[in-house]
Amino acid sequence: MLPTNSDTLFERAKKVSPGGVHSPVRSFKGLDRSPVFFKSAQGAYLTSVEDKKYIDFCQSFGPLILGHLDSDIKEKVHHMVDTAWTFGAAEIYSLELAEWMTSRIPFLEKVRFVSSGTEAVMSALRVARAATGRKKILKFEGCYHGHTDSLLVKAGSGLAGVAASSSAGVNDETAFQTLTLPLDNEALLQQIFTREGKNIAAVIIEPLPANYGLLIQRKEFLQTVTKLSKENGTILIFDEVISGFRVALGGMAEILDIKPDLVTYGKIIGGGFPVGCYGGRKELMDLVAPLGPVYQAGTLSGNPIGMVAGLETLKKMERLSGWSVLNKRTEAFAQQLNQAFQKNSNGLIVDQFSSLFWIRRNNSSGSPIRSIEQIAPDQGTTFKKMFLNCLDQGVYLAPNAYEVGFVSMAHSEDILQEAVKVITKASQ
Ligand SMILES: *Cc1c(COP(=O)(O)O)cnc(C)c1O
Repeated sequence: MLPTNSDTLFERAKKVSPGGVHSPVRSFKGLDRSPVFFKSAQGAYLTSVEDKKYIDFCQSFGPLILGHLDSDIKEKVHHMVDTAWTFGAAEIYSLELAEWMTSRIPFLEKVRFVSSGTEAVMSALRVARAATGRKKILKFEGCYHGHTDSLLVKAGSGLAGVAASSSAGVNDETAFQTLTLPLDNEALLQQIFTREGKNIAAVIIEPLPANYGLLIQRKEFLQTVTKLSKENGTILIFDEVISGFRVALGGMAEILDIKPDLVTYGKIIGGGFPVGCYGGRKELMDLVAPLGPVYQAGTLSGNPIGMVAGLETLKKMERLSGWSVLNKRTEAFAQQLNQAFQKNSNGLIVDQFSSLFWIRRNNSSGSPIRSIEQIAPDQGTTFKKMFLNCLDQGVYLAPNAYEVGFVSMAHSEDILQEAVKVITKASQ
């Protein structure tokens, strides 16, 4: 039997895993508290080993758009568990999901399933390099694309666009092949394309950057990215691992009416199980093995449990017009929080887009934040106080000042009301 105490469990976990966790943000680093150890989840709630219940706005960092343990998904998963666990062969479940997606998203002609967002991004970049015969990748500061080597880079000092590795173990030779630019800056974008355009295989961007705060971009900026990519024969990759099937059925591509050459999905597409996906134009996807020369494979790729969980999640969202329900609910939630924050003059503001929200310290200009350098320097300290108070009062936010919150279909208006009270009090 495990002891029913998070502190004790954390001590044990630290002995057998780095930082006691299997993904860094989970460790509550810098928050001066042991991470809460959970044992079960239902709907909008998590239950800790101490038997304390929390309203969960982390939702496993995005996959659970219907909330934990949705009854319809559960039924499909139970049935699949009784039918087969994995085939390593051609089967009907990935076919159904692939047909569902490609029949609804116009630019998505072919897809390949993998097991994580990282893997999807890594493979899409490989396709782009193969298609163009070029080496370089352009990414934007503040966008996260998983932990593939070529994207673990930050802005270097010196010449605009030149990157440096942001992780030990990533060679400079690899980092130098990636160019990085700030978001929201057309002038620098134009400049880099003039200098390097014919060397850039792919531009990769989160069309709704939501991994370093919520940095909602101007449509014109994304249109310029698209235009310059096209003019230079550069592959445009929308990384919609977080925004895909969350902001709309067709993700940000639908909202912006932009057709990227390639797109990456993850999170929601597996309904809570490990699934990633890349896809796009037929002639690009046909470069992938066994049809083409780009090698990519996976033992558990297209795992049937993830496939049925993902498909049922998407079908249910479509059935319930879930996206419009969530948009309205989250907008009202953010509005109530903003009114309360204003009344208390606590200097905080909530940014919201669809069912994503981010609580941040307002900057002096009071204007929207579109790139990382606009984030207030005391975001971390402000967040820490609010986060710990919320935790005491039974609201679980993602344990990091730069992570967004997620509202799921299981967050009823009553639950959101309760959360508004707790968060308001916690941030006084
Ligand atoms: C989460 C995320 C990834 C990485 O996905 P994993 O499944 O964690 O590997 C990549 N890109 C974006 C935009 C993400 O939000």
